[in-house]
Amino acid sequence: VEQTYDVVVIGAGGAGFSAAIEAKSAGANVVLLEKMPAVGGNTLISGGEMNAPDNWVERALGITDDTADLFYNDTMKGGDNLGDPKMVRILADNALASAEWLRDDIKVEFLPDHLFQFGGHSRKRALIPVGHTGVELITKLKAKTDADQITIKTNMKAETLLKDESGKVTGVTATSGTGDKITFHANKGVIIATGGFGSNVEMRKKYNPTMDEKYMTTDTPGSTGDGIVMAETIGAKLTNMESIQTYPICNPETGVISLVADSRFDGAILINQEGKRFVEELERRDVISKAILAQTGGYTYQLWNQGIEDIGKTIEVHQDEYDQLVKQGLLFKGDTIEEAADFFKIDVNTLKETINKVNDYAKTGKDLDFKHRGGLKSLEKGPYYIEKAVPSVHHTMGGLVIDEKTRVLNEKGEVIPGLFAAGEVTGVIHGTNRLGGNAIADIFTFGRIAGKQVVAE
Ligand code: ADP
Repeated sequence: VEQTYDVVVIGAGGAGFSAAIEAKSAGANVVLLEKMPAVGGNTLISGGEMNAPDNWVERALGITDDTADLFYNDTMKGGDNLGDPKMVRILADNALASAEWLRDDIKVEFLPDHLFQFGGHSRKRALIPVGHTGVELITKLKAKTDADQITIKTNMKAETLLKDESGKVTGVTATSGTGDKITFHANKGVIIATGGFGSNVEMRKKYNPTMDEKYMTTDTPGSTGDGIVMAETIGAKLTNMESIQTYPICNPETGVISLVADSRFDGAILINQEGKRFVEELERRDVISKAILAQTGGYTYQLWNQGIEDIGKTIEVHQDEYDQLVKQGLLFKGDTIEEAADFFKIDVNTLKETINKVNDYAKTGKDLDFKHRGGLKSLEKGPYYIEKAVPSVHHTMGGLVIDEKTRVLNEKGEVIPGLFAAGEVTGVIHGTNRLGGNAIADIFTFGRIAGKQVVAE
């Protein structure tokens, strides 16, 4: 079977959706291919938070000193300066416009009065979609593609990129859920938005042998690096492939990210089996993960109280996850420190000492042990919540090399005509370590550029 469109977008996560919507609004006939039975990818199951410097919620909260420059510096530094400066600049300068586009054109609702300050960020700048997950993003993007009459084909796995004699990419072959082979021809170009490879253990080990079976993953089963392999096969250059990020606070039995534990951004602390803090709770994900793995048993406990819970209400917004964790015996609510310590057999005296110190540091505003950058909160009053967690593979920073116009480059650094990429499949933004809230900013900023560019060329 053969079908012809102007633009073929591969992968229906945030990058693919935004590319498809922009290409359509620039006048192209677009098809969006998704190999899974449902759209959304990791974008759907993520927390959905999005950094945008100097955004409207910051201004409403009286944060008036955030700038694109500060965001640029945080992002570069967070990735050990291995991100491509000109690409990070584009991210920093356009993240706010991407957020406004989501708000105004896609009708995404963000909380009007709450932001997260993720690890590595010098300002509280992450917008939070209602529901605190990517469901709000994907639901609204899907509604927009429906309204725009963009064709989406689920259960459609893209497999091989096609080139003409001149070397231009002209389409892709795919296999449907029922085994039909279909060739999608693209008059204008193909956009790869297939996400990362966190769920592909063999591929992880190929590029970073330490990221082996001992890690579970937070990612969807579709995150197998298909787009990276497809593009590499026709000569695309890969970069930064060894940089694989673990998210520090995940379910020890399933590897699923814990969003209930977003209370960490409101002041929850991390302790080890001995009852001691061992890392700054707002450190980078790689630093916290490494610190956790160095503790007894390779796990941590996250502890917070009702006062902290009342700030972000993470249990209320993630009630299903909370109930599940309680049922699994991985999260306990107790009225006193003694009860909390007893449940996980933590030495209660050490834990009390730790908490007394935290209470002192909360009063003085100075964390003398780990310099908590958000300021510790008092844990004097219960009830307490304590949750067991391990790191799990979360984001693959490496991938395809793209230029400012999201054109995919080959080994020699030349443009591969007709081929574009955006989102986690690319490897040029986050360096060694992606900061929280930066993936959503990345995928919409570059997804939109790809969608416009493929039509403009
Ligand atoms: P991003 O954040 O970069 O948008 P996501 O993980 O949210 O990435 O979305 C990527 C999407 O691409 C997922 O829904 C995934 O199932 C899909 N995908 C991955 N490989 C293929 C493929 N070979 N063909 C079609 N879709 C794919």
